[in-house]
Amino acid sequence: MSIRRRIPRKTETDVLYRNDMTCCICRNADKGIQIHHIDGNRNNNDSSNLAVVCTTDHDKIQKAGGLTKDFSPEVVRKYKQNWESTVLKERNQRRDSSKTLVEKAFFKYETKRIVYELVSIKDNDIDGIARRLEYLYYLQILEVPTFQVLNDLDDVTPFFAYSQANKACLVVEQIAEFLSWLRVGPEHFKITKTHKDCLNLAIKIIGQIGEACAIVANLKTLKCVSRAFAKIWATLVSYNLQSHALKLSNHLKKIIETCQKAEEGTKPFDLGVEEMTKLRQGLEIMAEHNLKLKGFLKMSRAAVE
Ligand SMILES: [Zn+2]
Repeated sequence: MSIRRRIPRKTETDVLYRNDMTCCICRNADKGIQIHHIDGNRNNNDSSNLAVVCTTDHDKIQKAGGLTKDFSPEVVRKYKQNWESTVLKERNQRRDSSKTLVEKAFFKYETKRIVYELVSIKDNDIDGIARRLEYLYYLQILEVPTFQVLNDLDDVTPFFAYSQANKACLVVEQIAEFLSWLRVGPEHFKITKTHKDCLNLAIKIIGQIGEACAIVANLKTLKCVSRAFAKIWATLVSYNLQSHALKLSNHLKKIIETCQKAEEGTKPFDLGVEEMTKLRQGLEIMAEHNLKLKGFLKMSRAAVE
């Protein structure tokens, strides 16, 4: 018998907030709501699998049960993504028009302060690191542009990339999370230059951390890098961002080369090479699924050959 895992409180709150406590299908704010597992697996509590729906629509989805096209998982996912991006857009418009210059300056300062705290905190204080990253996450949702947070993180990355594995892992995971809402896809979201700049910066920071952990032969961090790159790659493919993909591929190439050279004179960091090769194959498959993007495939192959 399998034990059903409860949705973690933080994920639940986050999903409810992103959906403004409102059903993503009918968008009727007066109706009672539930959280629906889109893929039908009640143990998959990843926020991308959770949709906020009213009881009426939840019944409809469950009756459809995948047999009709009305509420297939893909359709529910589209409703979720579309509604979440609408909520986000409305919030951004509201907050930008009401914020004073002093407030803006304060939150700019606050972001830097937290980033410096993050650097100075000990690497075994996982709770302390996680709390600061969570604070940055909320600052980035509510108060400061994502680019600014990434920019501040970029300044300090070299201080922890080589020697502080826990911090490096958590930062890499958080950066992929900062950009997760871009995954709503081009049908629902028009990507701007600012978003593209954010993606560039994210790729740069994650790449830097990847190269650092290749030098010190740290497999744990390399695995985090690989997961984060895979998430970002999916976004690049969906928006057809080929020059970004090339940058990512170049980092990948550099990481593999570094793994091969690591501990030169003794032996190469084979586990690192293996992990990165696995990632490269994963990226190719992802690009292959989307046939219009033949360039991606060539790129990821060319970059490592
Ligand atoms: Zn509804």
